[in-house]
Amino acid sequence: MTDTPRIHLGSLLRTSSDAQAEGELDHLTYEQGGTRQTLRFARPAPFEVAVNALGGNEMYLQGSFEPTLILDCARCLRDVEVPLDLTLGTLMRYEPSVNTPYLEEAETGEEVLVFGDPDLDLSDYLAETTLLAAPLSVLHAPDCQGLCQVCGHDLNEGPCEHMAQVPVEEIDDELGTPGGTVHAKQNPFAGLRDLKLPED
Ligand SMILES: [Zn+2]
Ligand SMILES: [Zn+2]
Repeated sequence: MTDTPRIHLGSLLRTSSDAQAEGELDHLTYEQGGTRQTLRFARPAPFEVAVNALGGNEMYLQGSFEPTLILDCARCLRDVEVPLDLTLGTLMRYEPSVNTPYLEEAETGEEVLVFGDPDLDLSDYLAETTLLAAPLSVLHAPDCQGLCQVCGHDLNEGPCEHMAQVPVEEIDDELGTPGGTVHAKQNPFAGLRDLKLPED
């Protein structure tokens, strides 16, 4: 088990030989808007990556990552397991002056992972790939009753004294509908697009 997924690209950069890395992650920490965030996994998440030289400073990363992400139920906040089976495939470019790896959009619309340390930390890359594939909002059960907005009681465990004052339709309006669109402010990953964008 490892905390930080890394791939060593030093010899690839020197001799154009291919590089591989694999391991299991029980969580993933990444940086977003200057703060450390954590993705929680229900069980060790296997990753496997291979990087092939394309010539010059460019290379191609491919592989797989299979995290079982733990997200909060949008209504009652209990843990919900979301299994993901991700196929990785990303162009990479080595630029020695780059301190922190970031994803850049190429003219073709394709994303390019730009990095400067040959001992490449894949945390942010795997986190972004995971979050882009994850649902914006999940429910632990389709008929989750949510929490009482007055006392916070979990209404899945039965009604509380405030039930009559908070119609269920109103709860639905505020928290979004399952599988439907959710207002951006309720998406915990709404800030993701700010992740690691290069400064102009
Ligand atoms: Zn729930
Ligand atoms: Zn209540």
